[in-house]
Amino acid sequence: MSLKELLNDVSDIIFPPQCLACAEIINPQENRIFCSFCAEKIHFITGSFCPVCGVPFPDSPAGSHVCGRCLKKRPYFTRARAVAVFEDVIMDTIHKFKYDRSISTGSGLSSFMADFSFPNFNFSEYSLIVPVPLHIKKLRERGFNQSLVLAREIGKKYRLPVNFSLLKRSKFTLTQTGLNKAEREKNIKGAFVVPDKKKVAGESIILIDDVYTTGATINECAKVLLRAGAKKTAVLTLARAIEKPV
Ligand SMILES: [Zn+2]
Ligand SMILES: [Zn+2]
Repeated sequence: MSLKELLNDVSDIIFPPQCLACAEIINPQENRIFCSFCAEKIHFITGSFCPVCGVPFPDSPAGSHVCGRCLKKRPYFTRARAVAVFEDVIMDTIHKFKYDRSISTGSGLSSFMADFSFPNFNFSEYSLIVPVPLHIKKLRERGFNQSLVLAREIGKKYRLPVNFSLLKRSKFTLTQTGLNKAEREKNIKGAFVVPDKKKVAGESIILIDDVYTTGATINECAKVLLRAGAKKTAVLTLARAIEKPV
């Protein structure tokens, strides 16, 4: 046993790993971030979903198919995937990370996201990772950008560069909470800019965010990157809100 392994074992005895959601002690050998009780409540998006925007179709007898929204109007990104549905354990843990500023929760969630096998997603097709930026005012308030924390871990795992200054949020927008899809699109329009277009030209970009709600924010980011000369964009998020029927 190396000294590092020994120190890890000692630290596991003094500070045993806890479930990120309920703080239950987890066996360190299991190398998990949620206890089995909480893990069971997570709805991973691996079954039937729209191959474009990634919206899950729980128990759909039709299997995976392009959803009505994407048929009507294709988003600017080629595909979006998320680890799990934004509810319950996942929702609480993301809130803990963002609003309670829990660093250990952030680091647990980023490895959880980086370790997930996103279905029909090939990282070798991409050259760059860009986290969805926060406005400077929001960044000062929170102290960190949660999307950058997630993006760094994925960049490390797949050996892709992460650029957090390529896309900037120039307009301070009102919160998107409580707005419908059309209102969100209007609210977010013109909120992002690419200060140096040369850095985007010809790049295949993965956009990273914590939650995909209606897709209005991430679609606006994809649009701005494509107009600045990006070859293509895709989207990865930790969680995905289930859309209400339209
Ligand atoms: Zn738990
Ligand atoms: Zn879709």
